[in-house]
Amino acid sequence: MMHAALGSERSLLIGGRWEAAEQVMPVINPWSGEALGAVACADPSHVARAVASALRGAEAMRDLSSGARSRILHAAAAALEAEAESFAAAITAETGKPIRAARREVARAVNTLRLSGEEAVRLAGETLAFDSFPGGEARSGHYVLEPVGVIAAITPFNDPLNLVCHKLGPAFAAGNAVVLKPAEQAPLVAIRLASLLLAAGLPGEALNLLTGRGGDFGDALTGHADVAMVSFTGGAKVAQAICRAAGIKRLAMELGGNGPVIVMDDADVGKAAAACAAGAFGAAGQNCVGVQRIYVHDAIHDVFQAALVAATEALRVGDPLDPATDVGPMIGGDEAARVIAWVDDAVARGATLLTGGERAGALVRPTLLADVPGDAPVACHEAFGPIASLFRFAALDEAIDAANGADYAIHAAIFTESHRTARHAARRLRAAGVMINDSTDYRLDAMPFGGAGRGNMGREGVGFAAREMSQTKVICYHDA
Ligand code: NAD
Repeated sequence: MMHAALGSERSLLIGGRWEAAEQVMPVINPWSGEALGAVACADPSHVARAVASALRGAEAMRDLSSGARSRILHAAAAALEAEAESFAAAITAETGKPIRAARREVARAVNTLRLSGEEAVRLAGETLAFDSFPGGEARSGHYVLEPVGVIAAITPFNDPLNLVCHKLGPAFAAGNAVVLKPAEQAPLVAIRLASLLLAAGLPGEALNLLTGRGGDFGDALTGHADVAMVSFTGGAKVAQAICRAAGIKRLAMELGGNGPVIVMDDADVGKAAAACAAGAFGAAGQNCVGVQRIYVHDAIHDVFQAALVAATEALRVGDPLDPATDVGPMIGGDEAARVIAWVDDAVARGATLLTGGERAGALVRPTLLADVPGDAPVACHEAFGPIASLFRFAALDEAIDAANGADYAIHAAIFTESHRTARHAARRLRAAGVMINDSTDYRLDAMPFGGAGRGNMGREGVGFAAREMSQTKVICYHDA
């Protein structure tokens, strides 16, 4: 019943109307293998119409007051909250995310929309002291923040609701129109969210939604001359393709991570082990701030390793709809097979398998490795699966250098009871956020969030994204 409501071949939203396309693709529940529905495969002709609609939508948004935009976002937040349980079930169905985590995602998405509603009435410029420099005496004025226009928003599968809210909320708060392209594996929740925003009063043409495969129409969308900004969350490979197609336009790139955690000899071992297990294996490791590399001080290495193996083996693995489940399936069997191939490769290079390493369909048992050579893919590339590796160190700076060694950096973390050690690490770790006595897997939706590594551009976090989705205009009066 719920699944029938979820699936729709009428999944393209263009010009305020839902429509179908000739080509459709199924959306598969990764746990049951069942088809939840089918969505349209957009092509470049849909892009042309969606962008034309969004241009008109941008005009409609300019006519809305900031107060009206704020009310729409708050109304959408309230409607989402009222439907929280069915949205959570829908997230679990299309991603395999355990239901407790899906409920947390919905609560965060409600917060992201509320923050966006607040931001709509907070975004403002300021008065400038033009008379502060000779020649400006007779001048006065200010700067304002104006919308950029049409934003192409492209999102990944792993948080199919909240990451879409992180695009739409700030974009509408700042007065823009959007063409949204949700992940092909998990587009159904985004479709429901779009309906809810329209019902909350969003001008019909301000939100256009194209489902299907990015490779089929991504270049037409991101390279379109009338798209002023591309806001992308996803992997580095697709980011490269987007940068090539987009040419010179505003880009926001939220890419991957390879989360390093340092555990010092004075750390609370039990707390650190529990946080690392949750941070590495929640969402089956498909988390851009998930824990992937754990650097452990020699003095506590063996006791920490035992605690981490115990915490990992205590995780409940299986049916994501069961509220007791901690770790569900990955997004699909191919991804699970890739993860196992990476584990096998690490073991062939001399790594020790501490626990896990097995799969059944899309389900991969939480996997811990030790003695991993630095050049193994599990160590130096984003795993985006339920694998973490333990490394041993003797001196803090050695661990910091190793932690800083990856190409991608979102968050880094350290467990220590020493304030001095924490401050030193916070200064030296190359990351966009450093968590002290927590794993890398923490994010508040209001905080600045992005990457510090190669290729990351811009910051999300509602207020920060809304500013990046605005352009500054100076207005200066010459009164002489
Ligand atoms: P992905 O890069 O494969 O796909 C992301 C989106 O890009 C999808 O909607 C896809 O259809 C679209 N796409 C594919 N080809 C395209 C093209 N040529 N032009 C335009 N769009 C195209 O990512 P994924 O597998 O869905 O998600 C996993 C990745 O996302 C991981 O690397 C993860 O770290 C990253 N991620 C980052 C954040 C963050 O905030 N930094 C959050 C979540 C996930």
